Amino acid sequence: MAFPIKVCVVCEEEFELKPDKPGFANRCPGCSAPEAVGPTTKPRMDADERKSVAEANEARRQAMRNLLYRKDS
Ligand SMILES: [Zn+2]
Repeated sequence: MAFPIKVCVVCEEEFELKPDKPGFANRCPGCSAPEAVGPTTKPRMDADERKSVAEANEARRQAMRNLLYRKDS
């Protein structure tokens, strides 16, 4: 059975919105975990991982932009 694919508003990763998924409907399971609990909680990703995810998202945005521009010119 297929679940609707949503894009996380926090990390912009696609995820399956399962009916029993805890947390927000517009956040992936990873970003649904409470992060603002306190500084004692361990970060889910270290800085390098965050950077690579951000770069991947930026690359995807660039690709989308290129597609749009190609249509115009
Ligand atoms: Zn996320």
